[in-house]
Amino acid sequence: MTKKNTIWNRLLDTILPRHCSICDSRLGFDEKAICGSCATRLPRTHYELTADYNPMTVLFQGIVPIEKAVAFVHFNPHNASARLIYAIKYYRHPDYAMAMGEIMAKELLSSGFFNNIDAIVPVPLSRRRLHQRGYNQSEYLARGVSKITSIPVITKALRRKHFLQSQTMLGHTERQKNVENMFVLRDASALSDRHILLIDDICTTGATAMACIQEMQVAKNIRFSILTLGLTDH
Ligand SMILES: [Zn+2]
Repeated sequence: MTKKNTIWNRLLDTILPRHCSICDSRLGFDEKAICGSCATRLPRTHYELTADYNPMTVLFQGIVPIEKAVAFVHFNPHNASARLIYAIKYYRHPDYAMAMGEIMAKELLSSGFFNNIDAIVPVPLSRRRLHQRGYNQSEYLARGVSKITSIPVITKALRRKHFLQSQTMLGHTERQKNVENMFVLRDASALSDRHILLIDDICTTGATAMACIQEMQVAKNIRFSILTLGLTDH
């Protein structure tokens, strides 16, 4: 960052103070999306220490082949991560998503989780949902991860169809059924011979990631790992 830029940013921070998305306290100049004390208190899973076998990989076992899966934090509607995830999804804050991507990547880097990953594919939104929300939060998470790891992000290879019923209205089995055939692989050659890291905001049953992987499996010699910001407590 240039000196001029730094002064400008400090000035902007004074005029338009930024606030922590969890506790609402004012953010320091170096902080993004969450303050230092909220960052320390996030309920981390530490699954990166056992990335090839943990409560998240178990969700996919026997269904789709994955090499590693990690969720950064435990998610339930009553813990601090919920406010963060709602802010990313519903309060028009792609900058928070990008910042959380950077925070996750910085913390996971030393575990070797990103070693041998060739490209990142964020779970796509349907065109209609993208229009409503203005941005794809998973894509911004992916861009934050890419900023730290320099792994390229591929957004055009996989597309999501629009469907009418809201996922949250449905039970487990219905949800799973509903996401089948929801994605369309548009460019298999962009993914073939690569180890793909699929990125999403929340993993609940794993159904969305499974549907993405089932569709992408058509690409030849493709391998998969998964990273999400949160894993819903079961
Ligand atoms: Zn805070």
